[in-house]
Amino acid sequence: MTTEAIIELRGVNKWYGAFHVLRDVNLSVAKGERIVICGPSGSGKSTTIRCINRLEEHQAGDIIVKGVPLDDDVRHVESIRRDVGMVFQQFNLFPHLTVLENCILAPMWVKKMPRAEAEAKARQLLERVRIPDQALKYPGQLSGGQQQRVAIARALCMDPSIMLFDEPTSALDPEMVKEVLDVMSDLAASGMTMLVVTHEMGFARRMADRVVFMDKGEIVEVAPPDQFFDAPQNDRTKAFLGQVL
Ligand code: ADP
Ligand code: MG
Repeated sequence: MTTEAIIELRGVNKWYGAFHVLRDVNLSVAKGERIVICGPSGSGKSTTIRCINRLEEHQAGDIIVKGVPLDDDVRHVESIRRDVGMVFQQFNLFPHLTVLENCILAPMWVKKMPRAEAEAKARQLLERVRIPDQALKYPGQLSGGQQQRVAIARALCMDPSIMLFDEPTSALDPEMVKEVLDVMSDLAASGMTMLVVTHEMGFARRMADRVVFMDKGEIVEVAPPDQFFDAPQNDRTKAFLGQVL
């Protein structure tokens, strides 16, 4: 079987000044694959996924998304960004815009979609994330779990083929974690390619095709969840799992 990689990281290195934050990161993600990235704080998880849509720039190695290399050609960067949705720990909604306005902004400005079409699509996606009634509210009027589901709907409004999640439930009160994970599980079941940085090991076990463990800027171990959790190979993985499980 040949599975063409939708995301390819080859020998990716990055420095913040003198600090070597990513060390020879290699990862090949197949279309429709769900990857969970875990590891201690400061291990480079956010930096890795932020490099995939160029929120951070890598200095050595190759990042190729759907055959397009992330390099200094701004057309490459723009085309990749259009196709890669991102959800952050802190939601990053525009507080002065309604939920609906948050959702239609990028489709209208980046894709030149007519307002009526953008709104129809946004309402459909708000339904999909189970908050059809909140369209005219402002983010501040919603719970954290609702805001994060708006952020997911907003990203989906651009019809991405890849979704990146950076600790999407870490800022939520415990009772809201499940409603966000449920929406992410629906998305995973729909065939979306997903890279999810999370400490939710139950989600990783249920939804991930592979779990990636990072430590000190390196990918230390990659394995399907059963093997990762039940028979980790690396001592650093074992130590980490001993702390979080
Ligand atoms: P993680 O998401 O695994 O917690 P990060 O990718 O956010 O880790 O950060 C990896 C390391 O890089 C940390 O030591 C962090 O302090 C450092 N770092 C992150 N962003 C910057 C930055 N903009 N400038 C300098 N150092 C940074
Ligand atoms: Mg992080």
